[in-house]
Amino acid sequence: MNFYSTNNPDHQVSLKDAVIKGLAPDQGLYMPVAIPMLSQSVIDNLHKMSFQEIGYEVLGALFEDQLEPEQIKTLVDHTLAFDAPLVEIEEGIYSLELFHGPTLAFKDFGARFCSKLMSILMEEESQQVKVLVATSGDTGSAVANGFYKVPGVEVIILYPKGKVSDLQEKQFTTLGENITALEIDGVFDDCQKLVKEAFLDEELNSKLILTSANSINVARWIPQCLYYFYAYSKLDKAGKKLAVSVPSGNFGNLGAGILAERMGLPIDTFIASTNVNRVVPAFLEGGRFESQASIPTISNSMDVGNPSNFYRLLALYDNDESLFREKVKGFYFDDHHTRDAMITVYHQSKYIMDPHGAVGYLGLRNFRKQFPDEYVGIFLETAHPGKFRETVEHALNLTIELPERLAAFMDGEKQALPLENDFEAFKSYLLK
Ligand SMILES: *Cc1c(COP(=O)(O)O)cnc(C)c1O
Repeated sequence: MNFYSTNNPDHQVSLKDAVIKGLAPDQGLYMPVAIPMLSQSVIDNLHKMSFQEIGYEVLGALFEDQLEPEQIKTLVDHTLAFDAPLVEIEEGIYSLELFHGPTLAFKDFGARFCSKLMSILMEEESQQVKVLVATSGDTGSAVANGFYKVPGVEVIILYPKGKVSDLQEKQFTTLGENITALEIDGVFDDCQKLVKEAFLDEELNSKLILTSANSINVARWIPQCLYYFYAYSKLDKAGKKLAVSVPSGNFGNLGAGILAERMGLPIDTFIASTNVNRVVPAFLEGGRFESQASIPTISNSMDVGNPSNFYRLLALYDNDESLFREKVKGFYFDDHHTRDAMITVYHQSKYIMDPHGAVGYLGLRNFRKQFPDEYVGIFLETAHPGKFRETVEHALNLTIELPERLAAFMDGEKQALPLENDFEAFKSYLLK
C-alpha cells in the first residue's frame, strides 16, 4: 500500500519514502491510499489470538505489498515485547494500560516500531540513517529507548540544557551506543530550530540521510492501532455497544483507533478527551477548527494548541465533517476535575490513574452518563502514574514506587555533548 499526502491526493509514495521523509514535501501528512478491511472471521477470532498474532494479521493486511512476512514478524515481535493489560476498574469501565514499556508511556509502541522499520528499510543502503530529534523530555526518552542498538540507525537528540527533569535526562543520556545526546545552550524552540535548519541544509542532505522520528511519521502512528484490536479481543461487551476514550494532545493515538475501526474493528463511538487545550472538542461541538496558543496543565503531554494530526482524522472520515462529528464525541476538563477524578477513583477502586488517563476516564464517564447501560467503555491509560509522581502523590496523599526499570536509569552516568546554540556548530558536528 502506498501513501498520499493530505495536501495532495495525487502525490503518492512508497512506505519507505513516507517513513524516511516523515512529512510530505508539501507539508501534508502521509495517509494510506486504501484502508484494507479485515474479514468478519478475523474479527470474530481475535479473542483466540495473542497480541503478536493480532499484530501479524493487522500489519500483514496493511503492508503485505511492501514488506515480507518475516519482516512483519520481526517488526511485531520487537514492538509488542510487553503487554497492554485491560483492567476493569468499575463496572463497565476498563483501563487499557499502555505504560508497560521501557519508558512507561504509550509512545514506546510507536518508537519501537519506527526504529525497527527504519532499520529494515535501510538494510540495502550502505549509509546509516541519522535520526534528529528535538525534545522537551518525553519524546527523547521514548525515541532513544526505542532506537537503542537498532542497526543502521544513529539517533541524535537535542535537548535544552537544564530544562528537562533529571529522570527524563537520564533516560536518553545514559544509553550510549547509537544514541547521542546534545545538550544545547538554549530552550526547546532553539533545539527544534536547529533540527529544522538541518533538514533544509543542502550540503547536509547531499552528504547524509537525515530523518525525523516525530509523532506524525506513519511509522509511529500506524502501529498504535494494534492495541485497540488487542483490547477488543480481551473485552466482554456483554451485548452492549463499545465506546473508547482517548486522552489526546496531538491526536495521533485517537487517529490510530479510528484506523482500526475503519479496518473493521467494531467500536461504536470514540471520545476525544482533552484538558483545557480543547481545540478538537470545540470543533466537534460544531465550531471551526482553530488552533490556539497552548495552555499549561497537569496533563502536560497533552498541552497542544495546534494538534498536527487533525487533518489525518478528517481524512479517515473521507473529509466528511458530519460523519466525523457523529462518530467522535469531544469532552474537555480542567485540572480541578482531573485531580478530583484521580481522587474519587482511588478512593472507590484503589486504582491509581495518572493525570492523562484521568482525563480519558472523565470523558468516558461523562459520555456514558448520557446513555445509561447502553455502553461498555475503555479509556487509554497512556502513562504510568510514577511518571507524574509529584502531581499524583500530592493529589492522592501517598507515595508511589518508581518501577524498577525506571529507577535503574537514575544509576546510569549522564553522557551528553554540550553544544552552543549555533547552527554552524551543529552542522560541523553532524559532518565530522
Ligand atoms: C503524547 C501523550 C499523550 C497525547 O497523545 P497524542 O497521540 O499526541 O494525542 C497523552 N498522554 C501521554 C502520557 C502522552 O505522553
